Amino acid sequence: MARVVVVGAGLGGLAAAARLATAGHAVTVLEQAPEVGGKLGWFARDGHGFDTGPSLVTLPQVFRDLFAATGAPLDDVLDFVRLDPAVDYRFADGTGLSVPGHLDGVRAALGPEWSALLDRAAEIWRVTEQPFLRSPLQGARTLARLARSVDDVRTVAPWSSLRGMGAAYLTDPHLRMLLDRYATYSGSDPRRAPAALATVPWVEQAFGSWYVRGGLRRLALAVADRAVERGAEIRTSTPVTRVLVEGGRTTGVQLADGERVPADVVVVNADATALYDRLLPRDAPVRRARATLARATPSSSGFVLLLALRGRTPDLAHHTVLFPDDYDAEFDGLFTDPRPLADPTVYISAPDDPATRPDDGESWFVLVNAPRHEPGRGVDWDAPGLADAYADRVLAVLARRGLDVRDRVRWREVRTPADLARATGSVGGSIYGTSSNGARAAFLRPANASPLPGLHLVGGSAHPGGGLPLVALSAEIVAGLVGPA
Ligand SMILES: Cc1cc2nc3c(=O)[nH]c(=O)nc-3n(C[C@H](O)[C@H](O)[C@H](O)COP(=O)(O)OP(=O)(O)OC[C@H]3O[C@@H](n4cnc5c(N)ncnc54)[C@H](O)[C@@H]3O)c2cc1C
Repeated sequence: MARVVVVGAGLGGLAAAARLATAGHAVTVLEQAPEVGGKLGWFARDGHGFDTGPSLVTLPQVFRDLFAATGAPLDDVLDFVRLDPAVDYRFADGTGLSVPGHLDGVRAALGPEWSALLDRAAEIWRVTEQPFLRSPLQGARTLARLARSVDDVRTVAPWSSLRGMGAAYLTDPHLRMLLDRYATYSGSDPRRAPAALATVPWVEQAFGSWYVRGGLRRLALAVADRAVERGAEIRTSTPVTRVLVEGGRTTGVQLADGERVPADVVVVNADATALYDRLLPRDAPVRRARATLARATPSSSGFVLLLALRGRTPDLAHHTVLFPDDYDAEFDGLFTDPRPLADPTVYISAPDDPATRPDDGESWFVLVNAPRHEPGRGVDWDAPGLADAYADRVLAVLARRGLDVRDRVRWREVRTPADLARATGSVGGSIYGTSSNGARAAFLRPANASPLPGLHLVGGSAHPGGGLPLVALSAEIVAGLVGPA
């Protein structure tokens, strides 16, 4: 039995804790915030409740595996609801596209070109799921696993971008836009992200878009409960300031109040950049890992508006996306010349769930992509007046695109990239750690086993990447690396 310390109670930290406790280890989770969940946050007031982070669950099988492996089936504790339609898209020319929640319906609604793209994406998924997403990142060995045959390499086409894939398969500009959007699921630019990201619409459309009744935050709470049931201890309001290194390995962590918590294994769920830049001593033997991370482009962030609205909107889907006219301007504003986007894509999640709204109202989670918080170099989201002025702009964009709710706003809450950085410790408010920009990006992401013996990384800023299912997979990989007690 090892003494395991997990730094951070985001989904990755909690899932790792549940798995490692089940494996027989003595697990302590140390979380700096007063509550568990990290980006899976919740805000409630006056009968309105909002998920402040994720609003969409994909790959539910990953969560079924997690719950089954740690004691009891997921359905005993959570109610996963498959959304149909999955998303209601509206384009700048006034046309709309409602994407069904089941694969047959998607093929029928989106047509033969999209279907052909999905078939190719399914092949990429077959080639990459096990050797890449479900395995530790091991440099040349990972590449060898991925490139078992020339056919496999041709399928994945590591030389081509998601945008290039769209151009090859799709003639309809609306469908190209829709495909591009999936790059943003990892905070990336479709012009630079690899074609392999076509697996994202594949898994969403083949295995469904899901909601957790009562709010997605319940997923974090259920995993925390599971970890505790299996014997883990969770300490909140307990920031870790140092990962201790002695004799060439980690020996535990130090807390903000000076307390030292000894450990044989330290699993860090905090942002990998924060780990390598701040938590580890400068002379820790991790030079190469640090340098690799420094070469990666961080993922983009998000500007969130929580709207408590009076009244109900006729025919409002659970998820609505309002596209702009010029999608490239969005990616330029996120990565090339960072600035708050003047005419952003607007995403609305409005669950029709009594747990999230009063009878006479709606609770809208509105998200637009935003460049990271980088005072001095990029956008300073703490600049006086910016957050409120930008919230007004987002409401005006909504109005221009046919959803004018300005006279229905009871109150609003704004969360900028700077707020996200403060709340969860994600550096600059990057939502997904490093982005997928560039053919080598997946290999620049920090590995789950750090070069320092005893130190592991779990969560969206480590392999295999951000988003709830990948984060849960990273916990499975880490539990496998640590092994049974
Ligand atoms: C606005 C938004 C929308 C999103 N939408 C979706 C979506 O629809 N679907 C989806 O799948 N994903 C979505 N995501 C991404 C998803 O939320 C994340 O990938 C996932 O929740 C990250 O989990 P994690 O384990 O990496 O940890 P995080 O949630 O980042 O948690 C890390 C934890 O570590 C703690 N911590 C940090 N530093 C320290 C320290 N020094 N000491 C102690 N504790 C520390 C933090 O407080 C935090 O609790 C979204 C994220 C955001 C912000």
